[in-house]
Amino acid sequence: MSILVVGSIAYDTVETPYGKVENAPGGSTLFFSSAASFFSPVNVVGVIGSDFDGSLLSFLKKRGVDFKGLSVESGETFRWGGRYHANMNKRDTLFTFLNVFERFQPRLPTSYKSSEYIFLANIDPELQLDVLSQLKQPRLVVLDTMNFWISGKRQALQEVISKSDIFILNDEEAHELTGENNLMKAIKAILAMGPKALVVKKGEHGAMLIYENQFFFAPAFPLEVVKDPTGAGDTFAGGFVGFLSAAGDLNMENLRQAVIYGSTLASFTVEDFSFNRLIGLTRDEIEERVDRFREITRF
Ligand code: AMP
Repeated sequence: MSILVVGSIAYDTVETPYGKVENAPGGSTLFFSSAASFFSPVNVVGVIGSDFDGSLLSFLKKRGVDFKGLSVESGETFRWGGRYHANMNKRDTLFTFLNVFERFQPRLPTSYKSSEYIFLANIDPELQLDVLSQLKQPRLVVLDTMNFWISGKRQALQEVISKSDIFILNDEEAHELTGENNLMKAIKAILAMGPKALVVKKGEHGAMLIYENQFFFAPAFPLEVVKDPTGAGDTFAGGFVGFLSAAGDLNMENLRQAVIYGSTLASFTVEDFSFNRLIGLTRDEIEERVDRFREITRF
């Protein structure tokens, strides 16, 4: 089953209480792909500048990630800078330089148009709608966004939510999108916009899944050291969509397991900066942690 991801590719400068990295590879697309490629081949649509170092892309290619949809433009790659607070649940964006990302127009190569599992990472909802219009017959569309689009492009965002099967967002975004302080009421209001399922992430407090009036709640994997949460959301999505692409059917049992795989992949990302923990991660390590998850949530 082929997966398509459309989103950012970046150089990140990140400060946490554990240290700092400058111009480290990042972006939703690459974090997603590094997780999803454990399960199925991944097709990437994105843009980089001529300054982007190819070694991470070569590593991902060996893992079954296809970059035919990647355009290389003259100019600098998108750059994002962030600083995490002492408790790591909160971060401030220090800068966003769109660079070549400013003119990004997703164009799907012909062979990508029949992709079945789609992850629309956090980009302008108008571009997300454009991607959907280029697809033949997707089986599952999974959507991500951020507060910037909730306040700035609400109408287009509502349209893309209505065309998505699963919407992944965090609790703050759910409140902002609906104006509801009560999370259950916010969930009800978002489901009324059209998606079949919702995943509400609550940072180190885990993730909640809602599908056909059924709920599932998974904690975040308990870790003693969290060095850098950047990319946790996108690797969660990679594990989640990756698992569903391999499982096939959309049902509660598969969705519950997908949440556990997503949480597991995210737990590795945060153990080190950038892709440091994800490079070299093995399927055996993932399965061991999934087993441990099973053990700590059984009652
Ligand atoms: P996450 O920690 O999962 O929310 O994702 C972090 C990644 O999102 C970083 O690697 C950033 O490069 C990327 N990012 C930050 N701001 C934006 C933005 N405005 N648009 C697209 N990607 C972004």
